[in-house]
Amino acid sequence: MSAKDWVTPAVAAMHAYPVAQLPQNALRLSDMECPQDIDPTLRQAWLERLDKVAMNRYPRPGDDQIDAHLRRLFDVPDACPLIYGNGSDELIQIILMAVAQPGRTVLAPAPTFVMYQVCAEMLGMNYVGVPLSTPDFALNEQAMLKAIVEHQPAVIFLADPNNPTGNALDSDAVRNIIEAAPGLVVLDEAYGAYASHSNATMAQAYDNVVVIRTLSKIGYAGLRFGYAFGADDWIDAFAKVKPPYNINVLTLASVDFALEHDDFIRAQTAMICRERTRMLSAYQMLEGIEVWPSAANFLLLRIANAAKIYAALIEQNIWVKKLDGVHPLLRDCLRVTISNAEDNDRCFAAIKMFLEA
Ligand code: PMP
Repeated sequence: MSAKDWVTPAVAAMHAYPVAQLPQNALRLSDMECPQDIDPTLRQAWLERLDKVAMNRYPRPGDDQIDAHLRRLFDVPDACPLIYGNGSDELIQIILMAVAQPGRTVLAPAPTFVMYQVCAEMLGMNYVGVPLSTPDFALNEQAMLKAIVEHQPAVIFLADPNNPTGNALDSDAVRNIIEAAPGLVVLDEAYGAYASHSNATMAQAYDNVVVIRTLSKIGYAGLRFGYAFGADDWIDAFAKVKPPYNINVLTLASVDFALEHDDFIRAQTAMICRERTRMLSAYQMLEGIEVWPSAANFLLLRIANAAKIYAALIEQNIWVKKLDGVHPLLRDCLRVTISNAEDNDRCFAAIKMFLEA
């Protein structure tokens, strides 16, 4: 008797999410982390806050103070209840666990964030990816509407801005998809802090919309904290599925502290937006590279021999994400996180040198 006798066929067919063990001093431009850790001038005050945390007690399931920060800082409507996840990854899993049944379908544009498919298939659901339009990766609204009629999806995921293409989604197309959807539409705003527009008010306007967000892309990937909001009955259902103590006491205290000091978050995201503008123009000037405008903290590049450049960058301990081979629309593509000027210049110089060699 072994695991293979019992592990479900869906799990047996899965691959573990590849988390790279990067060498020390790696230039990490693969995962949309922010370059700065907590403001050094705040570190002592943060440690003092942690020192007051009772480690022998279970955490509370929600936190009024954190809720208040999230509503104030990130325009979460008062009418929408909130729920927290151990990263938004966990929220994706919780959402799908609440609706999973064999024969049901999860639908999303393609390419998009891989965990929607991974979680759907792990739970025995069908997954349908509807190709984005070319060349700008806009939603293919007609194809989405057709797929909705055909597959009657239980859940539609729309990452807005989308990963890995970086574009924000057209509000009219999003609204039409929401109105046509028989089930839930999840607006995943993991990169919303870098976009000039949000469709999150649709969570208040429609009872089949939930928004998920994360602190990971605005400076706190290590905390593993995401949140969701939307109609009461959806959030109530997720609360039943969620492990009762999913966010630990140290994370709750740290999130509370981080959100009290939102100036630091805003300064870092503003710096990254300025750098994104600068790097977009820089890459546009390079011969042999196609680069798309981005509403997120990364740029998508298409370069002939992307796999060779990827390997050459690793030689210099620079880690970006290789997307070539992941989806036909991502042929020869690399995704590069936008970091501070020094990191961005180092990566740019390495790519430029390769192209000119
Ligand atoms: N949604 C999208 C679109 C993402 O790209 C990611 C991470 N790459 C996540 C959700 C998950 O982020 P986390 O679990 O760190 O909150």
